[in-house]
Amino acid sequence: MSLQNVVVVGTGQGSFQLAASLREGGFRGSLTLVGDEPGLPYGRPPLSKAYLLGKTDAAGLNLRPPAFYDEHGITVRSDARATAIDCDGRRVVLASGESLPYDHLVLATGARNRPLPVAGADLKGVHQLRTLAEADALKAALAEAGRVAIVGAGFIGLEFAAVCAARSVPVTVIEGAPRPLGRAVSAEMAAVVERTHVAAGVTFRFGAAVTAITGTERATGVAMADGEAVAADLILVGIGVLPNQEIAEAAGLPVANGIAVDAMLATPDPAVSALGDCAAHPSPFADGARVRIESVQNAVDGARCIAARLLGRPAPFAAVPWFWSDQGPMKLQMAGLAAPHDRAVVRGDPESGGFSVFCYRAGRLVGVESLNRPADHMIARRLLAAGIGPSPDQAADTAFDLKGFAAGPR
Ligand code: FAD
Repeated sequence: MSLQNVVVVGTGQGSFQLAASLREGGFRGSLTLVGDEPGLPYGRPPLSKAYLLGKTDAAGLNLRPPAFYDEHGITVRSDARATAIDCDGRRVVLASGESLPYDHLVLATGARNRPLPVAGADLKGVHQLRTLAEADALKAALAEAGRVAIVGAGFIGLEFAAVCAARSVPVTVIEGAPRPLGRAVSAEMAAVVERTHVAAGVTFRFGAAVTAITGTERATGVAMADGEAVAADLILVGIGVLPNQEIAEAAGLPVANGIAVDAMLATPDPAVSALGDCAAHPSPFADGARVRIESVQNAVDGARCIAARLLGRPAPFAAVPWFWSDQGPMKLQMAGLAAPHDRAVVRGDPESGGFSVFCYRAGRLVGVESLNRPADHMIARRLLAAGIGPSPDQAADTAFDLKGFAAGPR
C-alpha cells in the first residue's frame, strides 16, 4: 500500500523537520502533527539564552511562520495530547477521545524535565526549563530575583547561570559531581568552562547533595547534606530529562531509556518510527550501541533519515552527532560522542579563550570539543564523518594543517 497518511506525535524540532522533509521530497499525502503544547513548532535553544535575555520574542522562536503550514498542507493540532496508540488498528488516540488513523506514525515526543526528588521541590519560586511557558515564568521570576540558586551544572543550568551573571544577579550553581558538565565534556574543557563562569561572578558548590528546598509557601533556599544551605528566592532545577516513551511502552513497543529503534529509526512495528530526544538508536559513533541524544541536530537528522525511508530511499542513520551551548562569552561546540574516552589532547591555548579538545578511544578519534573555535568544529565534523583523525601528537600541534588533513588525499 502506498503511503497516504502520516501522523506525528509531538510538534517540536524533529516533528517539524519530518513534515518539512516529507513535503520537500514530494510526499503528497495527509500530514498531521499532534502536540500537547500550544502554538506552532518552535526551537528550544533560545529559551535558555537569547529569549531570557530579551534578545528574541516568542514569534522569533517559531521554526516557520503560520503561512508555511497552510502552504505545505501540514495540519498542526496543538493543545492535543496523544494518550494511546492502537498499533493493530493503526490509530492514535487523543485525550479528547478522538482517534486519528495513520499509515505511518512517527513518535517525536521529546523529553520532560526530571523532577527533583526532595521536599519543597514544588514550592513557589522553584522552576524548571523545557517549554516556552516555563521560560516565560522563569523570565518573569528573574526580573524580580534577589539571589538565584541552580541545581545541576549541566548545559541548561550553566546557560542560565550565564544569563544571571549577565544580569548581575548573584547566582550559585549546586552540583553533585566534582565538576560541571559531567560526562558531557572532557575534564579539560570542564575546567575552562568552570573558570570562565567563576570569572563572571558565578559561585559553584560541587560534590553537594541537595536534601531539600527550604521555605514554607515560597522557596527560600537549597539545603544540602553537609548541613549548609544556599539562600535564594529563585531556584532553577536542571538535572536532566526523562524520555517521553510511555505511550510507546503501553502500546507494547520496546523501550530502554527511550523508544528503542533500529539503525533506520524504525520500531519493530513497521508502521511506527521514532526520533529525537525520545528515541534510542544504535549509533556507529558508539560502536553500534544504542544511544539517546538530546540535541537539535539529532532530531533534525533523524527526521531526515525517516523521511528518506518513507519516500523510498532507506539508509541507516549515520549522521555525525553534534551539539552546541552558548554560555556568556563561551560558544561551546561538540562533535561526535566523546564519552567514554581514554585520551584527551588540547589544541590551542585554553588561556586564550579559544581551544579544542580532541578525544580518543583506543587510539581512534571519537569526539572534538571546541570553545570559540568554530573552524575546528567544522573540520572535526568532516573528520568524524570520514572516520579518520589526526594522531594525538598532530592534533596537539597547532602548526599541523588540520584543514588540509581533513581534505585528503588519503
Ligand atoms: P521536542 O522539540 O522537545 O518536541 C517534543 C514535543 O512533543 C513537545 O512539544 C512535547 O510536549 C510533545 N509531546 C510529548 N508527549 C506528547 C504526547 N503524548 N502527545 C502530544 N505531544 C506530546 N540542543 C542543541 O543542540 N543546542 C542547544 O543549545 C540546545 N539548547 C536547549 C535549551 C533548552 C532550554 C532546551 C529545553 C533544550 C535545548 N536543546 C539544545 C535540546 C533540543 O532543544 C532538543 O534536543 C530538541 O528540541 C529535541 O527535539 P524533539 O523533536 O525530539 O523534541
